[in-house]
Amino acid sequence: MSAPAVGRFAPTPSGRLHLGNLLCCLLAYLSARSQGGRFLLRIEDLDVPRCPKRLSDACIEDLTFLGFDWDEPPLYQSARTDVYQAHFDRLREMGLVYPCFCTRAQLHAAQAPNLGEREPVYNRACAHLTPAEIAERSRTRRPAMRLRVPDAEVAFEDAHFGAIRENLARDCGDVIIRRSDGLFGYQLAVVVDDALSGVTEVVRGRDILASTPRQIYLQRTLGFDTPVYRHIPLLMDAQGRRLAKRDRDLGLPALSRTMSPEQILGMLACAAGILDENRPATLDELTKRFDWRRVPRDDLRLPCTPKHA
Ligand code: GLU
Repeated sequence: MSAPAVGRFAPTPSGRLHLGNLLCCLLAYLSARSQGGRFLLRIEDLDVPRCPKRLSDACIEDLTFLGFDWDEPPLYQSARTDVYQAHFDRLREMGLVYPCFCTRAQLHAAQAPNLGEREPVYNRACAHLTPAEIAERSRTRRPAMRLRVPDAEVAFEDAHFGAIRENLARDCGDVIIRRSDGLFGYQLAVVVDDALSGVTEVVRGRDILASTPRQIYLQRTLGFDTPVYRHIPLLMDAQGRRLAKRDRDLGLPALSRTMSPEQILGMLACAAGILDENRPATLDELTKRFDWRRVPRDDLRLPCTPKHA
């Protein structure tokens, strides 16, 4: 018998959860639980100034309100610097890391990739600096650290979207794995955490699909297994517009004033094709009905505009 599936939800608590995040949590949860698997929660609060404790706490409260549970205490990335440092050191010992002194505009690639559109490919301006140049530039600026990626293709089969391939050097560029402010980059942290937590299935928004080949490259380089990836369509509002953190009305604090957890879950399940009609449902019922084949590839739409919105 194969080992049980391990799924996870990994929110970045830089704001309150909205329906898009909750849909991702719902599908990750239902997928893991419907296979009899385990489910983990990881709080991606690496960027501590943007992700204060009160927002991590609110995120856990919101998930608990909806009835989600997880099998281990939540993992907080902000408490795992030593773990990331150890893996960073391994990459450095392999000769794959170099300092980059480029300006902030070029460094925004270190941020969680779903915060903006696809980042520009780095032009390798700092890839071949001499030790003397590095020493000179270090006097005035603390560098970011980049992982050198090869001119090679990474191909994988996304369980929802099918075959994906990317040339690392051409499509991604050298990846920031430690920012100039000393914080470890999203790509390194997510790979290390998924591997060390034994995650076998990653369910997340298709806005992160473009990051996956570089995460697979990092896994291979560090000797980790690659989980199954299922990127999910984005959730639009009832008018077909993309949801964003600024849509306060579609955040849980507002929704929970007028809707029960079962109404919210049912609305999301209906948007995802798991229920045929918009009606209240419990996580138990949805787990029993769950089938990935019902979830479309096209963007999903909320079946209605929640009353107060
Ligand atoms: N922390 C990311 C987010 O909130 C998700 C990362 C992942 O699932 O790999 O969108």
